[in-house]
Amino acid sequence: MLSNVKRRPFGNTGLKVSEVSFGAMNLRMLDTIEEAGSILDYVLDQGINLIDTARAYNGQNGTGQQVESEILVGEAIAKRSDLDEPIVVVTKGHGYTLDALEEELSTSREKLGITNKGSLKMGENSIKLVYFFHGINEERWKTISTSGVLDRIREMRDEGWIDYIGFSSHYGDGPAIKKAVDTGIFEVVELPYNVFSRGLSNDGDEDILRYAYEKGLAIINMKAFNGNGMVPIHALLEDFLTIDHAAMLRFCLANPFIATVDAGARHISEFADDIAAAARGPLPDSEVRELKREADKISGDIKGICRECMHCQEKFSCPSDVDFPQILSLYGRASVAKKLGHDISGLQESYSELTINALDCTACGECKPWCEYKLDIPVMLQEAHTMLT
Ligand code: SF4
Ligand code: SF4
Repeated sequence: MLSNVKRRPFGNTGLKVSEVSFGAMNLRMLDTIEEAGSILDYVLDQGINLIDTARAYNGQNGTGQQVESEILVGEAIAKRSDLDEPIVVVTKGHGYTLDALEEELSTSREKLGITNKGSLKMGENSIKLVYFFHGINEERWKTISTSGVLDRIREMRDEGWIDYIGFSSHYGDGPAIKKAVDTGIFEVVELPYNVFSRGLSNDGDEDILRYAYEKGLAIINMKAFNGNGMVPIHALLEDFLTIDHAAMLRFCLANPFIATVDAGARHISEFADDIAAAARGPLPDSEVRELKREADKISGDIKGICRECMHCQEKFSCPSDVDFPQILSLYGRASVAKKLGHDISGLQESYSELTINALDCTACGECKPWCEYKLDIPVMLQEAHTMLT
């Protein structure tokens, strides 16, 4: 496909990828499967050559259909007859033990529609499959580094079941990220970074992005817009800050260590805006500095809110059926709205409609390890109840 989206080297893989890529996590949040298909078609029409999905990106869409992101991505690529380069497909699994790895990878390949090994294909189209250990943190790393999966994943790559090995990780997991990078096994890493949350860059304790880049890893930048919750929260901030999505994207593109910014758009128009923003080029240094100053006016206030990323729901359900991400999202929006002097009665009304609310939380704490932002969920639920009633 002819593409106007610039290409960047993808670490030491020898590949070049579009500097804007598509994150397929939000396909489960759309109303219909057709909508999901349309946005994937659009992405491929634009010559985007990296799509990021995961075994866990499943859920019911707005009309109650069960959606599996990997299936949709596989179908969208397989039906094309006009792709003139391999699409880089990233998928992720929680295969931290040998059995789990075998099962997760084989399920992912099946869902993606990959049946061969070596010179992998979806339909007639060549692809490059990057397989990730999903969400490495200190605790998971202990298992991964001792369970034998690192040797096994290398064998799998050498046997042609996958093309490249990677991992994703999150804020606050710098030590585990470095240990993983130092093994020399990984070729790709996906990390969060945006103007509001720069803890893994040179504004944090250590520039992990640089570290991984200098070791030859390809870096996929996730959370460029600071999580799904920033979309509604941005609407609240508009009167207060001059930062828009285009500036956030161009901020990330200004980081020289990033190979591609994973833009998890939910609508074609959003993704078109992302591509248009990227075409304006990375933000120049003076604007990067100005944007950081602007973001830092409120970055402290939004640090502790739920970003509506939904990662906690991928493998976990509350034993008391408390829809804690929903309650925390109302709380996050209400906190920001209140701070800015906006009315929160609509959010309070939404909370009052919940049949199971924060008071039903038993504070068992089982949800806490599943929060990507390490939120103290039981405590926040009680705060939410106070604010929303
Ligand atoms: S702490 Fe509360 S919300 Fe979390 S799993 Fe336990 S009951 Fe559910
Ligand atoms: S509770 Fe944590 S993991 Fe769940 S949606 Fe909110 S920020 Fe994301």
